[in-house]
Amino acid sequence: MVGTHNLQASKLFNVDGWACLITGGGTGIGLMNAQALAANGARVYITGRRYGVLVNAAKEHSPKEGNGKIIPIGPCDVTNKESLESLVHKFSSLEPHLNLLVCNAGISGPKADPSVSSSAKDIAHELWTKENFSDWSSVFTTNVSSVYFTTIAFLPLLQACSAAHPEGHNHMAGNVIVISSMSGIMRNAQKHFAYNASKGATVHLTKLMSTEFEKTGVRVNSIAPGYFPSEMTTGESDEKNKSELSDDKVKGHGHKVPAQRAGHDEEMAMAVLFLAKDRYVNGSVICVDGGVLGVVPGN
Ligand code: NDP
Repeated sequence: MVGTHNLQASKLFNVDGWACLITGGGTGIGLMNAQALAANGARVYITGRRYGVLVNAAKEHSPKEGNGKIIPIGPCDVTNKESLESLVHKFSSLEPHLNLLVCNAGISGPKADPSVSSSAKDIAHELWTKENFSDWSSVFTTNVSSVYFTTIAFLPLLQACSAAHPEGHNHMAGNVIVISSMSGIMRNAQKHFAYNASKGATVHLTKLMSTEFEKTGVRVNSIAPGYFPSEMTTGESDEKNKSELSDDKVKGHGHKVPAQRAGHDEEMAMAVLFLAKDRYVNGSVICVDGGVLGVVPGN
């Protein structure tokens, strides 16, 4: 029988001693995830292409109390197999297994506005001249293919966690959280067809991997964020790698945002801790979107 005291939030969401890895963990949503996991006891390794950004994130945001740490493991380009292999090699020299992989690295893509006019000729001109195959490929490589290859690269270390987990119910302990987007679920292109199509693929990739890798004992879920402050959404970050996203900017996206503001770090933190710890959840996509998908066409 589970006593009431076992249901305290501090117990349910405790990740003390966990080894986690977050791609793109030095800024924006990746950094929010790193802070949430480190605040609750995990050793959180962060990677990205800019090493200085990772070092600064760790310096500014590693918790001052408890066992948790944010650790800049080194640079990695998640679109490159050799770079991913080096990362796995380095990680294996530090940890025997990986409890949680967060595939968060992502980029925006070409922008073009299909609402310029109702004339097919005008729409075609806008989209044809402002976008190209190369931009589409880059977005898909970073937002979709890299999620696939990063997960595969770390699958044995994730399975090692499920096999070695000390808590008794070992099955489904190692897990992956893919940061997709509400943009991959809605039917509004938001003036960036390529990004939204890539995120739609990311959502489906999560479901495919959750089913195909179930036999390894590794869960795969996704968080589909709405608007959160980051370098992607604001174009910059401050000396602590943090960004500010004003209410006006969130409201100016051409559709209603019921929350009327950007998401907060705490709201992202709750989602990542929930998926990380709840072993009864696999193949789910949790929307943390301020209610947008309730008012913008989706399914
Ligand atoms: P940021 O630009 O702040 O973060 C993206 C991170 O990804 C950066 O730290 C970047 O670091 C890293 N990155 C990009 N390309 C690569 C690469 N090839 N190899 C390794 N790291 C890479 O933006 P967000 O925090 O917004 O983005 C994080 C994720 O959240 C993305 O997948 C995004 O699509 C998703 N998202 C964001 C939303 C938002 O409102 N902020 C909404 C919905 C989804 P570096 O440049 O140093 O490599």
